[in-house]
Amino acid sequence: TIILGLESSCDETAAALVTHDGRILAHRLATQEAEHRPYGGVVPELAARAHVEVLTPLVEGALADAGLKLADVDAIAATAGPGLIGGVMVGLVTGKALAHAAGKPLIAVNHLEGHALSPRLADRTLQFPYMLLLVSGGHCQLLLVRGVGDYARLATTIDDAAGEAFDKTAKLLGLGYPGGPAVEAAATRGNPHGVPLPRPLVGTAEPHFSFAGLKSAVMRAAQAGTHSVDDIAASFQQAAIDCLMDRTARQLRAHRDVTALVVAGGVAANQAIRGALAGLAAAYDLPFVAPPLWLCTDNGAMIAWAGAERFALGLTDGLDFAARPRWPLDPDAQAARGAGV
Ligand code: ATP
Ligand code: MG
Ligand code: FE
Repeated sequence: TIILGLESSCDETAAALVTHDGRILAHRLATQEAEHRPYGGVVPELAARAHVEVLTPLVEGALADAGLKLADVDAIAATAGPGLIGGVMVGLVTGKALAHAAGKPLIAVNHLEGHALSPRLADRTLQFPYMLLLVSGGHCQLLLVRGVGDYARLATTIDDAAGEAFDKTAKLLGLGYPGGPAVEAAATRGNPHGVPLPRPLVGTAEPHFSFAGLKSAVMRAAQAGTHSVDDIAASFQQAAIDCLMDRTARQLRAHRDVTALVVAGGVAANQAIRGALAGLAAAYDLPFVAPPLWLCTDNGAMIAWAGAERFALGLTDGLDFAARPRWPLDPDAQAARGAGV
C-alpha cells in the first residue's frame, strides 16, 4: 500500500510517499522561513499563499522521485488540523481534489497524530502503549499512546508551548527566527548554570507544564545586561530541560506498563533535550525512541505514515471533512473546551 501525505499547517509545505510497512519512497519539503523571518514569526496570510504556490509542484516532485503516478497511490492523507486555518485548508482541499480526481480515499490526519506516530515510522519495532513527550511550536504534552487514535493526555502546558518558549527566548536575545535551533546553538557556547532561572511547577503535585515565568525571567536577565547571550540561552535551555524531565519522570513513575519513552515534535530536534530524555529512559529501564531530526519538525512523511496507520485500520474520511483550527488528540480535552489544548 502506498500513501501520499500532504502537510501545510504552519510554515512548512510538504508532500511524501510512504508505504504501509514504513518505507519512505519520496519526501519533499519547502520551508517558508525566509518569507517570515522579517516579521520574527509566522504571518498566516503569507503562509497560506506560499502553500498554494508550492504544494502541487511538491506533489509532482515526490511522485517523480518515486517513479510513480497518482494512480499508483492507494490513498491520500492530508493534515486537516490543528494549525493556521488558511494553510490547513490549502492542504486539505488539495488532498480532496487529488482523491476525487484519482478516485482514491481521503484520510484527514490530525497533525498532532502525525507527530505522535512518527516514532513508529522511525522505529518499526515500537509497540503500544508508549509514553510520548510531544513538544512542538504549539504544544507541550505528555500523552499515553495506547493505539492509533487512542490517546490519553496526561499533562499539557498551562501557558506557553515548549517551542514557543524557545522562539520567544530567541526573539528576546536577538537570535532571530526560527528560534529553537538558534537558542540551541548559542546554548552550546554558554554556561547552563550561569544565570539563575526558575523551574515552574517542578516538584509540584499537579502534572502540567508552564513556561511563561521562565520566559519573563529570561527577559529580566536580558534587560539587566550582566550576562552574555550565550549564558542566558544555555541557562534557559537547562531550565526548560529540567522542567521537561521532572514532568516526564512523574508520569513514568505513574505508568509502569509503557514499552518506551518517546519524544516527537519540532523541539525533539534539540540534542540536549534528546540526551536528557535518553538518560531518563535508561533510569527507568526503558528504550528511548526519537525520530531523526527531519522527522521531528513538520514534514509530509509523518502525515503519510499516520495516514497509513489509519488506512490499515479501515479509517478513511469523506470529502466533506472540514478543516479544524483546533483539534485536541484526546476526547476528554475535546470535551473540556478552553483547557489550554
Ligand atoms: P504544532 O506541531 O504544535 O502545530 P509546529 O508544527 O509549528 O507546531 P513543529 O514544526 O513541530 O511545530 O516544531 C517547530 C518548533 O520546534 C519551533 O517552535 C522551533 O523553535 C522548535 N525547534 C526546532 N528545532 C529546535 C531545536 N533544535 N531546539 C529547540 N526547539 C526547536
Ligand atoms: Mg516550521
Ligand atoms: Fe508540528
